[in-house]
Amino acid sequence: MNQNNTEYRIMPNENNFKPQKKWEQTSTGYYIVPTSELDVKGVNNDGKNKPNLKALGMTIVRCRCPDCSDSRKHKEEHCVRLDLATGMGKCYNCGFRFIISSKLGDYNKKRGFQKKYTLPDTSKLTPLDGVAIDYLLKRKIQPQTASKVGVRSAMRVFSGCSLERSCLAFTYCEGSKVVNIQYKSTSKDFSFENGCELIPWNIDAALGQDSLIITEGMMDALALMECGFDNVISVPNGAESEVRCFDRFRYSHLDHIRTFYLAGDMDEPGEKLREKLAIYFGEARCRIVEWRVEEDMTKDANEMLMNHGVDAVLQCINHSQPCPIIGVETVDDYRERAKQIWEHGIEPGKTVGWGDFDSHIQFELGRSVIIVGEPNTGKSTFADDLILNLALQHGWKAALYSPEMFPPERHIDRLATTIAGRKFRKELITTERGVDYHKPQIPERMADRILDWLSQNIFFVTENSGRTIHKLLHRAEQLQMRYGIKQLLLDPFNYIQLPEGAKSDTMKIGDILAEIELFAHRTGLLVFVIVHPAKLQKGEKIESLYNASGSAEFRNRADYGLVLVNDDEHNPSNTLHRLKIIVDKVRDDAMGHKGVCYLSFDARNYRHGIVQPIYSNGSVVKLNMLDISSHCWLDQAEQIEIF
Ligand SMILES: [Zn+2]
Repeated sequence: MNQNNTEYRIMPNENNFKPQKKWEQTSTGYYIVPTSELDVKGVNNDGKNKPNLKALGMTIVRCRCPDCSDSRKHKEEHCVRLDLATGMGKCYNCGFRFIISSKLGDYNKKRGFQKKYTLPDTSKLTPLDGVAIDYLLKRKIQPQTASKVGVRSAMRVFSGCSLERSCLAFTYCEGSKVVNIQYKSTSKDFSFENGCELIPWNIDAALGQDSLIITEGMMDALALMECGFDNVISVPNGAESEVRCFDRFRYSHLDHIRTFYLAGDMDEPGEKLREKLAIYFGEARCRIVEWRVEEDMTKDANEMLMNHGVDAVLQCINHSQPCPIIGVETVDDYRERAKQIWEHGIEPGKTVGWGDFDSHIQFELGRSVIIVGEPNTGKSTFADDLILNLALQHGWKAALYSPEMFPPERHIDRLATTIAGRKFRKELITTERGVDYHKPQIPERMADRILDWLSQNIFFVTENSGRTIHKLLHRAEQLQMRYGIKQLLLDPFNYIQLPEGAKSDTMKIGDILAEIELFAHRTGLLVFVIVHPAKLQKGEKIESLYNASGSAEFRNRADYGLVLVNDDEHNPSNTLHRLKIIVDKVRDDAMGHKGVCYLSFDARNYRHGIVQPIYSNGSVVKLNMLDISSHCWLDQAEQIEIF
């Protein structure tokens, strides 16, 4: 067996640590050292007055051991690391753990109330026996490494077997006290002492350190010690451990740790534990250790040591990554996109070929468009035409939630009419104005092509299974995933169910609009919302998004805000209607600007057309309405025939 057997048996036994000098002790077993007796590196101490520790301007300092240094061969070695903020220190030569007297008051105050736990019986623990040594060596851990941090042997009965078996006993120490013991058989059964406090294992290793490695088990902690680390602790009870167990040590042991290396297992429970610890200690202080060498992933620190050796373990610690901070992004996350803008500028928004309208407003994905209009201005028809044009010209498939356009086949009829450029009918039709167009109506071949195009590009969100904003947006997101839609129409807003609760309607509307805006940003959909105006006073004209019914948030939340007003009073045409469009808001000035423009509207095919303003001395003197074509958008050949 191991040639070092005799040596490990005489290693200093920290559990039964006997100081060489006489010291008082705290109730938790830390020795109390008068501050005047400290000999801190870089601070003059005449032995009478308290050394001026603050002058050092550091938190973690080195000093001679108040207990062992006088009797050592290396008397001047500063073998203690001392945390000046808490006054807690530990000698890395003899294991003396202490608190300086001037910090005792703080310590007692911050430790606060402590529940009464029992202390375990340590009298039956023995030095590591052959079974334990065999087990440790198989796991590539030298017995003296384990012995030094209080691992012992014991005889124990585990559930499922009535015989006593030799097992490892991991003592949980705090100061000079053993607070708990975990017994672990070589076949991985384990048990704790009854009624004892669960504290992090080897917690005093955190004393005087500014970085700390936390493992998910004691064998992993031992593996890291085997690789030369002394700043290693383990959560007390594997991935199930509660972070609460650190509460009592926050002030005394952990406040001044700058870096926590989260070095748990590479499985799902390990992942959850890492998350809990990162949130508890704060992501900014945490680094994630992955037990991976090139492509080869191992379960934990001990397996890494067994399979790949000490250097591989060191490499994993060295390659640890800063823990991502949840809910925060850095410039580097967007660096490439920012460089794109630097190189090519902002990509121009999309237009639909509506003349002056195009010069006022260009569309980009991931935005919200809020449209408010007087009754009977054809807000829905306007939105449908705009969305169809964006779909046709730029491939932006769309989902429509239009409960007022009922039943859906009638809505499809209107959309098909817009695409065809004339009534979506088999036969020529006449109205009171006479025959609509000179050509025969829609042949079946063309009707099918239009319906085919619509079925591939336009989807309907229905009322079924609810109309809360979450449900509507969920359906839109599913359509995005399955069919790649880019546009969503919510028409009209007041069909969206307001959430329950005590808030005012205005606040609820604000919440829904915030939801829509964030949804647009997150999914990259262009979302159109049609809103009815609030009741107008007599003679009052609608002129901004503030006229939207229910909330000023409509204007505040919109990326684009459009107001539609009938302009037929001054319209000389008897076949085309004229619409005044107030572009009330364009949030991003790369996508347009505020102002007024005009569109014509043909009620026979629901299409909108160009109105050219004629200026004189800077003001509009005439609005030139251009003819609206009646060719089918899907039929290039027919287009040529018309022109
Ligand atoms: Zn010492």
